[in-house]
Amino acid sequence: MKSNKEDLYYPKHIFIETVGSLCTTNCIMCSRDKWTRKPLIMKDDIYEKVLQGFMPYLDKIEKVSFFNYGEPLLDPMIGPRIARARELGFRGTGISTNATELSEDKAKSLLDAGLEALICSIDGIEAATHEKIRPGAKFNEIVDNILNFIELRKQHQARTRLIVRFTAQQLNIDEWPAFKDFWLSKLDSSYNDIVFFMRVHSWGTANDDFKSQDTFGDGGAYICPDFLTKQYIFADGSAAFCCADCNGTFKDLGNAAFNDPIEIYNKAVFKKYRQYMQKGRINELDLCRECSIPMSRCNIVEYSPNGSVNKFEMGKKFIEDFLKSC
Ligand code: SF4
Repeated sequence: MKSNKEDLYYPKHIFIETVGSLCTTNCIMCSRDKWTRKPLIMKDDIYEKVLQGFMPYLDKIEKVSFFNYGEPLLDPMIGPRIARARELGFRGTGISTNATELSEDKAKSLLDAGLEALICSIDGIEAATHEKIRPGAKFNEIVDNILNFIELRKQHQARTRLIVRFTAQQLNIDEWPAFKDFWLSKLDSSYNDIVFFMRVHSWGTANDDFKSQDTFGDGGAYICPDFLTKQYIFADGSAAFCCADCNGTFKDLGNAAFNDPIEIYNKAVFKKYRQYMQKGRINELDLCRECSIPMSRCNIVEYSPNGSVNKFEMGKKFIEDFLKSC
């Protein structure tokens, strides 16, 4: 969001990837086959420097997520790292996981750390569907892991919100109604739990099979909510351009462990992209014109066990806020 006083943009949501280029599954809609960075778990000193770099901007940052291109539960220190961020005052901590590593010990360490939101990605109600979309995952194990997490959350009297995320695509769209009903019966609105429906996307141009996976077709979306509100830091501390920049090759941006992350976020190239989006000229941006992430973000629907349905919240609200701030 833009600050009139200093004419700077600040991310509302930062992503610190503590596990880079390392995952337990090989999902068909992922850009994983394009990853070229060496697998890496963030070193402690880099982690601390990155957190310290964002400290002067704590009041602007609403959420901090500990994932990007990798499975975050492969980080043996993920619980203590979340606890450290919370100790420093970061709010809205969250991770997104494929739940393959969500063991009892890991679950307890996340709950003890005070994690605010756990996103679990499941892409079917049938084991065969999920395992086809997410090779490497064992459906029954991950469902058990998530149900155990719900039980442990109660025992620990923790407040972690659970978000069960479904990435809609040709292979699973018919299972959506049964999927939604099943998970809504397991979740609890007193924790603000939700089932989260999102549309598969192209990861810029990295998902070669996007067109055959997609279920929506074209739909105009001229502003990228991710780009305008989020900032991504890789496991070595270097800054990504956006969530489609899986290898850090889109632009040369510097390292948030050694440079001010807000200076990075206000480099000329960011300004240029923001201006073009503001004017509805996203199709003139070389990196964006074939990226379907904006359309995916504008097709999000959140379902609560209490019956409420929140459509397009994420994409639309970000766009409205952005246009108001221009
Ligand atoms: S639309 Fe552009 S800025 Fe947004 S994620 Fe795609 S490539 Fe990145």
